[in-house]
Amino acid sequence: MITDQDLKVLLQYQAKHPVLSIYLNIDPAAGNADAYKLRLRSMLKEVDLPTDVAAVTRYFDHEHEWYGRSVAVFSCAPEDFFKAYSLAVPLRSRVRVSDRPYVKPMADLLDSYGGYGVALVDKQGARLFSFHLGELREQEGMMGESVRHTKRGGGSQRPGSRGGVAGQTAYEEEVADRNIKEAVGFATRFFAENGVRRVLIGGTDDNVALFRGQLPKVWQSLIVGTFPISMVASHTEVLEKAMEIGREAEHRREAHLAHIVVTNAAKGRGGVVHLEDTLKAIHEGRVQSLLIRDGFRAPGNRCKSCGYLSSLPMESCPFCGGKPEEIPDAVELAVRQVMQAGGEVEVLSKDQAIKGFEQIGAILRY
Ligand SMILES: [Zn+2]
Repeated sequence: MITDQDLKVLLQYQAKHPVLSIYLNIDPAAGNADAYKLRLRSMLKEVDLPTDVAAVTRYFDHEHEWYGRSVAVFSCAPEDFFKAYSLAVPLRSRVRVSDRPYVKPMADLLDSYGGYGVALVDKQGARLFSFHLGELREQEGMMGESVRHTKRGGGSQRPGSRGGVAGQTAYEEEVADRNIKEAVGFATRFFAENGVRRVLIGGTDDNVALFRGQLPKVWQSLIVGTFPISMVASHTEVLEKAMEIGREAEHRREAHLAHIVVTNAAKGRGGVVHLEDTLKAIHEGRVQSLLIRDGFRAPGNRCKSCGYLSSLPMESCPFCGGKPEEIPDAVELAVRQVMQAGGEVEVLSKDQAIKGFEQIGAILRY
């Protein structure tokens, strides 16, 4: 599990030698350890840093425990720098050699899935959870005085109440009120201790509203969702809810990028959409962020001399006149070229409709 502190260390790491960064998707749905290692080997083939490649291979062969859904590894062997993180959230496999650790995918992950606090509330107490990057980090519960089964009707009647059923109700409300206040105090302490940046509240509409109403403004502003759930829900159910909200946050971030692409492309400045224009911009080294639709593939041609990619048939390369060859997928090569040039690659989910954006586009450097 990675924390903001780990990220800071990686961000501040100043290397005098190239740093190898690897993200390996190990989603159990997509294979087993042998399949992941095969994928890793093919990724490492492109890397010309033998000692780092050896360090990474050694790590996966002997030290790594195959749990979670992706692994991030950073290696700078000449400086004896090696870090590996198992992540419970799936990330796309990728490799990069750069003058610093490539942390953007992890920063995005923290942005979408970091620091969730969940409170399940009713009139008697609260169950609190803190989730970070898809893992349960802390769990606590508090139980106030029982609200429903109390027999003491008269003891704490409000002034003017007549006792009997009305007195009983008033007393129950008073206990519930006290319990919720206590739960709020308990929750805010728990959230603060666990570095919570996003708050979710689960329970009946009624109880959620009561709890929310008592929450200090600063915590109220961090509420990202409320949902109905049983007070005895398992932490897996609660985690699933938090992950769902995380995915939504991720989708919003991607949608925002797609909107910038479309807006810039429409203005004719700083953005392109459609495959051919994007491939041309990549060849010119202008792509800062490449955005592709998940699963998008397109056969095409590549110039054997300068590497120019096109989805269209070409007699000779429009850039250098070189001979083209047919390739099964121009998109995969485009992704690789962008990453090698230091650009970002973002994947937009299949079902997310963005007006003006179809399969591929990019934000340009100039
Ligand atoms: Zn060419």
